[in-house]
Amino acid sequence: MASLTRASLAQLSPYATPQVVDAVDLSDNTNLWGTPPRAAAALRELQDAAMTRYPSTQPAALLAALAAYAGVAPEMIVPGCGSDDLIDCAMRAFAEPGDTIAFAAPTFSMVAQFAHVNGLRIASVPLQPDFDIDVEALLASRPRIVYLCSPNNPTGTGLPRATIERVLREAPGVVLLDEAYGEFTDAPGFDLVHTCDRLVVTRTMSKAFGLAGLRIGYAVLAPGLARALTVVRGPYKLNAGAEAAAAAALTTDRQWVEDRATEAVVNRVRLVQELASLGLAPLPSEANFLCIPRADATSLAEGLAARGFLVRALSGLPPVNQALADAQGSALRITVGPWPVMEAFLAALRAEVG
Ligand code: PLP
Repeated sequence: MASLTRASLAQLSPYATPQVVDAVDLSDNTNLWGTPPRAAAALRELQDAAMTRYPSTQPAALLAALAAYAGVAPEMIVPGCGSDDLIDCAMRAFAEPGDTIAFAAPTFSMVAQFAHVNGLRIASVPLQPDFDIDVEALLASRPRIVYLCSPNNPTGTGLPRATIERVLREAPGVVLLDEAYGEFTDAPGFDLVHTCDRLVVTRTMSKAFGLAGLRIGYAVLAPGLARALTVVRGPYKLNAGAEAAAAAALTTDRQWVEDRATEAVVNRVRLVQELASLGLAPLPSEANFLCIPRADATSLAEGLAARGFLVRALSGLPPVNQALADAQGSALRITVGPWPVMEAFLAALRAEVG
């Protein structure tokens, strides 16, 4: 298939308008259905006064909406400028420079970067071939913080509940459980904050909620930890527009969000079948993206970009299973979106690999 025209790209995805980007962006696991309608309206209707004045240090409506969504009390929620912000702040709130943070690799690349700038030592263990974690190896360094990511970026794989519970029982310090893709899995871990006061769950409105540009994340954690995290985070990390849009999305766009997340999961299953017919075998995903081990990931991504589709080319991944070892640690990561977008993407992929 030849490169897509600007007009046909614009029809495929709201992200693909020529004014925004001259390609369909399947590289960062955002919501390819667009922005929830009431959230977008709330932003458009923002009053001048809300822009002139500082936002609230305690955004009561948003805290109440997030608390209702997470099934916890408002004092167990700390919102921030994306979940990136909260992961970074948690490292300063719950560890000192020189302390160790442990995680299983590969995982979300920003964690190592935040650990580095916060002066933390990294104890990284490879994921096991079934994408579970060797808990004994993970905790061998007696880490001050353990970072778990489920579903995990970039593999898409989920952790067994029993593994998370064992880490919570045996870890000597705080456990960060990153659930950026929690809306796409059947087994989220939100509820564990009720039984463990050393658990910090981070979530985002950048993925299923379609609001990545507004930078809204939140942590769910015991009230004592929430107070410590709030001190480190400081005031005004969430701007007035983000606050209004997030509250609207959580109160009036929930069905929209849920329906798109369900569709993403259905389309992911369908995409796996289509990829199999091309001889491609993605890792088992519980998220809105697929990770496909492939030695030629970089050149394939370049070919797909020339055909109007941006995907993420990963390299240097540990040889967790045979497929990643055979691909010399390289893989493509592809966001799942509306089926017409996936069909057009598959046509481009066929032209590259077929
Ligand atoms: N955690 C994981 C696992 C992610 O994949 C991402 C973004 O890609 C984030 C956190 C950061 O999300 P946010 O946009 O909320 O900062």
